[in-house]
Amino acid sequence: MMDRPRVRFAPSPTGFLHVGGARTALFNWLFARHEDGVFVLRIEDTDRERTQEQLTQAILDGLAWLGIAWDEGPYHQADGLKRHRADVRRLVDSGAAYRCFCKPEQLEAMRAAAKELGRAAAYDGRCRDLNPDDAGRRAAGGEPHAIRFRMPDGETAWDDVVSGTTRFRNRDIDDFVILRSDSTPTYNLAVVSDDIGMGITHVIRGADHISNTPKQIQIYRALGAEMPVFCHVPLILGPDGKRLSKRHGATALAEYRKSGLLPQAMDNFLALLGWSPGDDQEFMSLDELIDRFSLERINRKPAIFDHGKLESLNLQHMSNTSGSELAELIGPLLIERGIASHEQIENRRAWFEQVLDLVKPRARTIHHALQQTRPFFAGEIQPDERAAAKHWKDRAATVEQLERLRSELAELEGWEEGELELQLRAIAELMGMGAGKLIHPLRVALTGLAVSPGIFEVMDLMGRELVMSRIDDALARLRDG
Ligand code: GLU
Repeated sequence: MMDRPRVRFAPSPTGFLHVGGARTALFNWLFARHEDGVFVLRIEDTDRERTQEQLTQAILDGLAWLGIAWDEGPYHQADGLKRHRADVRRLVDSGAAYRCFCKPEQLEAMRAAAKELGRAAAYDGRCRDLNPDDAGRRAAGGEPHAIRFRMPDGETAWDDVVSGTTRFRNRDIDDFVILRSDSTPTYNLAVVSDDIGMGITHVIRGADHISNTPKQIQIYRALGAEMPVFCHVPLILGPDGKRLSKRHGATALAEYRKSGLLPQAMDNFLALLGWSPGDDQEFMSLDELIDRFSLERINRKPAIFDHGKLESLNLQHMSNTSGSELAELIGPLLIERGIASHEQIENRRAWFEQVLDLVKPRARTIHHALQQTRPFFAGEIQPDERAAAKHWKDRAATVEQLERLRSELAELEGWEEGELELQLRAIAELMGMGAGKLIHPLRVALTGLAVSPGIFEVMDLMGRELVMSRIDDALARLRDG
């Protein structure tokens, strides 16, 4: 039996978690869950200065919001320093790496010369053939130096799960630095050393890392380690075909969270950025994503970030989320905004969930659901200006209609959707008008909004007392104005 696959998400905490990083994390996680593998979280904080605790925390929060739980970690790359240096020593001892004493000015001149000649590799190899014993003595004497990897001749190729056979000519690749003169490892060394140390079997990451892969493959070989499977997921582009950036809208995951999207909708959307289940199905729960995910179905072509699709998926996920789950999200917001108290919600929990079930099919976001839920709680509401301008246009007539409605409703014995509908339709008929003409101003009175769920269900759930007081408030406003 094959050992359990081990994958990792390895963000550098140099910025906020953006949608591309979140997509990489999600693909790794879905693969791990589908394959019964292990998902490792590793914070790549070699670059101490730019690393910030806060940014690391923001990454952890973002993953938690998406429901991506790590099985191991978070490990910190900085904690692997001893192993990184030991690996570098092994590479030097075997001759796969060498000491380079070139000074910054010399390197600068080499870069300029390479540019002039249009050569990809800049380093001219001048320390390649220094006698290792001499070099060792100079180093021991305190002469500043870096360690470079000796790129072999030939080419480096691998079979990428997404892009297929991928090749690089080694002569286009510099003898790259693996340990800086201050004894800190560079990214390519640290990442391979960690991936070997952590037994990573599949490296799933953004296509922007493809040019690092030949260097990393050479380090694996030189260390005699088993090669992982490489899987480079396609770039994400904006609708204009340019690389996704702030010009296209928010790129930080946290901004999508703040905008009131459901995490399950974001997961669904991110999963479709470069992957598809192979049929037309787009709406998927997290369980379905886990069930259907495979690396083989990741697309080679760049993915297009389509906000419209995100919104439509969110709308569908809102409808499919149970009232009790929504209660967990929206209850705290109502309390935070002083619209309801904890007791008001908990004492009528079943009712609250019914309200959420009623509003959710039309709610584009959590904020929108909150706006639709707010009128069900006592307290004055401010009618939306446009709704009032449209449906309370003729004030005198509206007052007359609402007064009539009020007195008829006051007479009603029961208070239930079906009966309310019959009654309202009867009143409209008596007043010689279509029921709709009566419903619109009533909706503004009850909810302050131009759009709401069916008015009879709204009245049923609001209850007689609140409906009456809302009509009274509306009448007071209309008479005043
Ligand atoms: N730390 C790298 C990044 O944030 C990822 C390294 C990798 O996945 O190999 O881009």
